Amino acid sequence: MSGIIQLLPERTANQIAAGEVVQRPASVVKELLENAVDAEATSIKLYIKNGGCTHIQVDDNGKGMNAFDARMCWERHATSKITKAEDLYNLHTLGFRGEALASIASVSEVEMKTKNATESAGTRIVVNAGNLETQENTAATQGTSITVKNLFYNLPARKNFLKSISVETKHIFEEYQRIALAYPAIGFEFYNQDKNLSKLKGGTLKARIVELFNLKEDELIDATEETEIVNISGFIGSPKLTKRTRGNQYLFANGRFIKDHYLNHAISSGYGGLLEDKSYPFFILFLEVDPAKIDVNIHPTKHEVKFEDGRHVYTLLQSVIKKTLGAHFVIPTDTQLHNALGYSNTASNNPSN
Ligand code: ADP
Ligand code: MG
Repeated sequence: MSGIIQLLPERTANQIAAGEVVQRPASVVKELLENAVDAEATSIKLYIKNGGCTHIQVDDNGKGMNAFDARMCWERHATSKITKAEDLYNLHTLGFRGEALASIASVSEVEMKTKNATESAGTRIVVNAGNLETQENTAATQGTSITVKNLFYNLPARKNFLKSISVETKHIFEEYQRIALAYPAIGFEFYNQDKNLSKLKGGTLKARIVELFNLKEDELIDATEETEIVNISGFIGSPKLTKRTRGNQYLFANGRFIKDHYLNHAISSGYGGLLEDKSYPFFILFLEVDPAKIDVNIHPTKHEVKFEDGRHVYTLLQSVIKKTLGAHFVIPTDTQLHNALGYSNTASNNPSN
């Protein structure tokens, strides 16, 4: 007996997965940069053209792949990073789904060159809309270079959703900044239309922030706290360094950029009265928690994670900010403020009143 239910072909399934993983060129950039970081590269170069819509290329000097892996990595659920679901609770890499490359390849034209440390020849692979077109030996140095051309060329409906070149370029630059901040020891270069936009050499986090945002060192205040539940490290901007928009607020959890309004609020409230009305503090803070106490598996791209002990992290963040600012700036107490404003303070000083 036959029914009406059928299994979707692999290529269709990949295209559907791509709907989640690949929303725009910046999503491709994020996945490729993260793979290069996971491959332990010390130098990563990003090249884009036309907002990444026609050309995205990421070259790294990481581990590279042998010929077998070079073919395998384009399959869905192909990953070297986990082997069982429990591994998700002990995750030390950015990737784990094994979905990114299969999804990207299903909606673009991809070329990869890769070589690992042991094989003498490298491998060149061409995948077009999910079809493997070429696999051959090639001369290559250790590392991986992946070029993604004409994103969504086979899905015109998705292509129509792309914004202007300048908007897409801006999104890409944001992803680049986030990864560059999270991995200051790695050297990064960014080229747009063959023009170099950014060249960051590997070094300290402070040096990276100063270089990326064109700041002075003394505008940054070191914020560190170690507790049993979470380690906090990074820099917060002096209260002068505030902005009218939320632009420069970066929070990372175990090396991943996260968007968390709740925790951002903890930081802003830690500034208390030092912030002008409707202004936002500058911060680049890293939270390190036991991977078992954080769920990164909520959404493939939505920069969201769930902390087992979110409230505790909130309180800690808030108090670290207060303490850090308190050590650098004289924060007037309420009583001092009252005195300065010429109010009588007898009421607050005299318990019998
Ligand atoms: P995930 O990162 O979730 O494992 P991907 O689809 O992004 O899934 O990549 C699949 C696999 O291909 C990775 O697990 C890794 O083994 C390999 N890979 C991808 N990019 C690189 C790279 N730049 N260098 C070395 N290996 C890579
Ligand atoms: Mg990946």
